[in-house]
Amino acid sequence: MAQKERHILSLSGGKDSTALAIYLRDLGSVPDMEYIFHDTDKELPDTIEYLKRLEAYLGVPIERTTKHTSFDKMLRVYGGMLPSNHRRWCTRMLKLRPFEDYVGDDPVVNYVGLRADENRTGYISHKPNITVVYPFQDDGIVYEDVIRILEESGLGMPPYTEWGRTHSGCFFCFYQQKIEWVRLKQKYPELYEEAKTYEKPNKINGNIFYWNQDESLEELEQPERIAEIIANWEKNQKRLKTKRKNRPLVSVLTGYESEDEEDRGCLMCFL
Ligand code: SF4
Repeated sequence: MAQKERHILSLSGGKDSTALAIYLRDLGSVPDMEYIFHDTDKELPDTIEYLKRLEAYLGVPIERTTKHTSFDKMLRVYGGMLPSNHRRWCTRMLKLRPFEDYVGDDPVVNYVGLRADENRTGYISHKPNITVVYPFQDDGIVYEDVIRILEESGLGMPPYTEWGRTHSGCFFCFYQQKIEWVRLKQKYPELYEEAKTYEKPNKINGNIFYWNQDESLEELEQPERIAEIIANWEKNQKRLKTKRKNRPLVSVLTGYESEDEEDRGCLMCFL
């Protein structure tokens, strides 16, 4: 007998995957959807809270695929070598592999929230039993539609956007901009302190890796450096505002003006 096809939607705690879950639930086109989340154990409290709200909205549990692993466990495996854009073991080991283990060999349709107005790439499984589909691209759903879906559902935008963070994922993610580190320090000083504790010599070659390649968090938190980062950010925002006269309404509402925020990072963590 042919195996029953499973339908799986990976949530990141970001706006697009959340909106996709709501969109498909409300369409009622996928009755047996499985919702999953690859929790690194270093997620922002905001993300966890947002997922709880989504769980209540959907009325079904969001399965954690990482019950037997975590960022710290994998960091030990990698000898304390922090991940970076060029050594992105974290996405592979804490997002992609848990996803593939969860799926196993069953035939699966994997729903991904890439929008019709973006052109992003990232880690996506190429296992032959997994068929990836992009309902937002098929249905022409763009940025403004996603915001509308979230507003109409009552969930709204992810709570971290209220204090100026642009994406979900680990609180110490190396993809964040310097201004986001400043905001993390202001909003969650204890998490900033925790992120600092990771910047120490690793066991493989004794080198110290910083979350920001060129600057330690200790340097970044100096008052004069914080003032400089804020001033640079404000200057950049002014420049972008002039450049983008017709920017999307949402960027006005959220106060974001970024040239490339949608392109940074990875699909599995931030979508
Ligand atoms: S959020 Fe950043 S640090 Fe965390 S797993 Fe993803 S890429 Fe790695």
